[in-house]
Amino acid sequence: MRWSQSFIPTLKESPADAEIASHKLLLRAGLVRKLSGGLYTFLPMGLRALRKIEGIIREEMDRAGATEVLMPALQPPDIWQQSGRYESARDVLFKVKDSVGREWVLGPTHEEVITHLAASEISSYRQMPRTFYQVQTKFRDEIRPRFGLMRAKEFIMKDAYSFDASDAGAMASYQKMYDAYTRIFARCGLKAFPVEADTGVIGGSHSHEFMVPAATGENDVAYGESDGYAANIEKATSAGPVLPTPSASTGPAPEKFPTPGVVTIDELAAPPHGVEPARQVKTLVYVADSQPVLVLLRGDDTLNEAKLMARLGATHARPATPDECSSWLGARPGSLGAVSGVPAKVVILADETLRRAMGMVTGANEDGFHLRHVDVERDIRVSRWLDLRTVKAGEASIRSGEPLRIRRAIEVGHVFKLGTKYSEKMNATFLAEDGQRRPCVMGCYGIGVTRTLQAVIEQCHDDNGISWPVSVAPFVVCITPLNAAPGGPTLSLAERLHDELAAAGIEAILDDRDERPGVKFKDSELVGFPLRVGIGEKSLAAGEVELKPRNGPMLKVPIDQALDRILAWVREHEAALNP
Ligand code: ATP
Ligand code: MG
Repeated sequence: MRWSQSFIPTLKESPADAEIASHKLLLRAGLVRKLSGGLYTFLPMGLRALRKIEGIIREEMDRAGATEVLMPALQPPDIWQQSGRYESARDVLFKVKDSVGREWVLGPTHEEVITHLAASEISSYRQMPRTFYQVQTKFRDEIRPRFGLMRAKEFIMKDAYSFDASDAGAMASYQKMYDAYTRIFARCGLKAFPVEADTGVIGGSHSHEFMVPAATGENDVAYGESDGYAANIEKATSAGPVLPTPSASTGPAPEKFPTPGVVTIDELAAPPHGVEPARQVKTLVYVADSQPVLVLLRGDDTLNEAKLMARLGATHARPATPDECSSWLGARPGSLGAVSGVPAKVVILADETLRRAMGMVTGANEDGFHLRHVDVERDIRVSRWLDLRTVKAGEASIRSGEPLRIRRAIEVGHVFKLGTKYSEKMNATFLAEDGQRRPCVMGCYGIGVTRTLQAVIEQCHDDNGISWPVSVAPFVVCITPLNAAPGGPTLSLAERLHDELAAAGIEAILDDRDERPGVKFKDSELVGFPLRVGIGEKSLAAGEVELKPRNGPMLKVPIDQALDRILAWVREHEAALNP
């Protein structure tokens, strides 16, 4: 491929609206262009890298025994109604109307479509295990599309769905996908690691996200440095807070005291009251799927909304408005408490750390007053004790007791054991070996292909540009004749090397532009080709060409060895990425 025939609009400056390095580089290196927030056109170099990633994914899916299909992006809403997600996923569903006013859904994911297929095509245990996959465009009405391809409204996902006759079978299918994902990210040159993930409404213990550590990620992961514990913060637990919860009772009964103007934990902790946060009970009012609930936590803890929703099996949860708090409890946030005045219809949930907590201070459900000497188990009608808090760095790992660390990460993939949630609702049943009819046991597995592409850039770049791993580089080799005059000696050697590499199965791009060497070098570093082959008149005269790995020092090699040295370099770097 000749540079002049391709379309590589590199930019000197990064566009103002690009915030993170990978987003800037996607634009500066001419890989994509924005149409509108969350909608991007792939230009030739971006598309080539994308195709490389898709190729790796397909090879590993096929190796794991999955089979490729392609499902429609446009879907009838009735299957979404059948699964119950027409309501629960309404925030992300794009809906469109056709010319006769009928509504359709643009698929954000494909559990419904594949289960519909399985319901009609799988009828016997003999047809399983079966895993289908596709590489396809998804649509999600993200409220805040950002960071380029990271969170887009339209993006490419590889999604896979497994069908098994038994739970054990489903676990084996899950493990195959988990292993395939490990290989896929390694082959893409990405350092990604699996973490335990929230299983939300579906429950169960088998869900892992594959995370790429990055300060710009949108997830927090809690992990043990040496014990292997790693979990999304939405799911992470620990052996408990660093400070113990006070457990010495200080009074026979709760006692009201005035706290005019005090509405925050910090204000109550400050003089004149001086009640340390660990001794306060924080009372939050939430509305979960339109049901009011009271959530009690220690004053120094924060509520984990994902845990709250998972424990309640709710699909939506939001803090109650101050007016709702007043009407249910008679006080506004800042003076709320659960000792008295909580209507029977309001469920009280308390975090496990408050069990046996004594001598606590909490709001009196009367603006401007708090209660002290509160023994939580004695004085509060707790309906359920649950793990609802967000773990903090430094707390002891449940595996080894070592202090947990927390870091930011980008979610690039997700594997999930679904069980029979969809197959029951959509009637995907089969005749088991014992003659019984049962729902298929399912799993679903997703990789954000476009997000993975950007995650590679986020992990592999420096001040000069992208530095592609050879497996996903748009071209592995960039041949740069310094004077590309037609018929001149540098261009003809460049052309010869290009063709010889092609014959050996290596795609190279030949920078045939009539540009100064400085411009060519800068562009090839910005776009990030792993190996540049420089051919100048001086080096030609010395019988040499220059090999410049993107991340390494330049080597001069004799012209007659150039092809072999390039091939050896590429093979070595390809092999390093193959687990
Ligand atoms: P997130 O929590 O980031 O919104 P998700 O958990 O909703 O993602 P899944 O439904 O698990 O996403 O989708 C599988 C994969 O698709 C994700 O792991 C991610 O890599 C990718 N993905 C999800 N949403 C987007 C998006 N808006 N833009 C680009 N990729 C996405
Ligand atoms: Mg996910």
